[in-house]
Amino acid sequence: MGTRPAGKVFLVGAGPGDPGLMTVRAVELIAAADVVLYDRLIPESALVGAREDAELVDVGKIGGGEQVPQDVTTALLIERAQKGRQVVRLKGGDPFVFGRGGEEALACVAAGVPFEVVPAVTSGIAAPAYAGIPVTQRGITSAVAFVTGHEDPEKPETLIDWPALAAFPGTLCFYMGIRTLGRIAEQLVHGGRAADEPVAVVMRGTYGDQRSVRGTLADIAAVAREAEIRAPAITVVGGVAALHDELGWLEAARPLGGLSVAVTRARAQASGIASTLRGLGATVVEAPAIRIEPLDVELPPLADYDLVVLTSVNAVQQLFAHLRDARALAGATVAAIGPGTVAELRRHGVAADVVPERSISEAVLEELTARGPWRRVLIPRAQEAREVLPDGLRAQGAQVDVLPLYRTVAEELSGDARSAALGADYALFTSASSARYLHEAAGTLDGPRVVSIGPVTSAAIRALGRGVDAEATEHTPNGVVAALLADAAARGSRPRL
Ligand code: SAH
Repeated sequence: MGTRPAGKVFLVGAGPGDPGLMTVRAVELIAAADVVLYDRLIPESALVGAREDAELVDVGKIGGGEQVPQDVTTALLIERAQKGRQVVRLKGGDPFVFGRGGEEALACVAAGVPFEVVPAVTSGIAAPAYAGIPVTQRGITSAVAFVTGHEDPEKPETLIDWPALAAFPGTLCFYMGIRTLGRIAEQLVHGGRAADEPVAVVMRGTYGDQRSVRGTLADIAAVAREAEIRAPAITVVGGVAALHDELGWLEAARPLGGLSVAVTRARAQASGIASTLRGLGATVVEAPAIRIEPLDVELPPLADYDLVVLTSVNAVQQLFAHLRDARALAGATVAAIGPGTVAELRRHGVAADVVPERSISEAVLEELTARGPWRRVLIPRAQEAREVLPDGLRAQGAQVDVLPLYRTVAEELSGDARSAALGADYALFTSASSARYLHEAAGTLDGPRVVSIGPVTSAAIRALGRGVDAEATEHTPNGVVAALLADAAARGSRPRL
């Protein structure tokens, strides 16, 4: 028998939902995994960093809502690890808090498979926190209990000692307790808790569409039913629940809460704008419609140029793919258009000499003209781009070389990605080509409200037969986000709370 590499199982928590709450260790392990077995309740973007050749297995709900049976999941874990694979078992929240991680660890031990546990932020703490509820608070409570609400308190076989739980001197956080909420509240009152004890229920805690309701043991079941609260939700019982009324910070900090936004930039670039949007509370649908494809080019000697104009982050990245180091640009004046381009240059050790205040070609031309005259100009850029800048500089007597370094090509969208994008509340377009390609992939841009980065992109969208609902005044990713915020505020798009 040949030696095979040792496999291992990693029991990893993915946190409660907000991708920003995943641990660094979880992200690293997902990126390295051969196999990821994941649950339904993990952050939407949790698997984005997985290897392209990784085996991703959904062991959450299948077909008609059936869960893959636990023994099948466990067997799969063990079998893949025994084949020498690095297996990540990714669970919502913390793997050892109502996550059946303990059972899977025991199975690893029984099978002689090595394992590691990666704890995470559990929803029983995080959902209350995002609703402004500290689970402990000096002067109110100094103990907290995590309880499963899965078991019907009225069934004789319940494992929970309800009178003892009612007598517990502290906060109670119930997981999986929405269907049984009414009976839980009754049992607690029956066991001696005050009927007017504060209760909060937090649904989809830390997700962009988090909602919470407040009540008392007497009325919470009715309040939650009225607000159509469904799983996943955490129920917090105790004096701390009332702090939600004062500390519920989320609504103010998250003006896009409850809204979904499709981002159609190329994958590598979308993440910055996506995390900004998530920070504002939006649910981001990443529908990367374009991909950068480097072209086979020979770089001319840069020493021949007195001006090099970089018009995008991609142009900088593609240019540096051809350079040994930043000294190649030492002799030229370097102009950079847009703050992202400036930052990307800085990452490569170059401080831009000229940074036009506005990012559209006409304004850039004006500013470069004012600083001229230029003798030889190099514009490394995308194959398909506007001619305003080269033509304008040529008109002033400069010899301009346009060097197409890459082209943007349409990336295939799955059916699901397409309907998610068209079903979003908003679609953001940061370039004309992103609009064209999404239109090509989806057959239409109808559905979401459309926000464009500037006039050129807007014109392209109109040419595709779709109106533009909002246009950025500052033609940068932050500018598009600002335009989206203004539009959402004007329309009064607030999450239902
Ligand atoms: N291991 C998980 C819990 C799994 S049990 C953890 O540590 O969080 C599933 C239950 O967790 C759900 O029924 C719900 O009560 C709770 N839950 C998970 N994610 C949640 C979220 N984002 N908001 C509110 N409750 C959540």
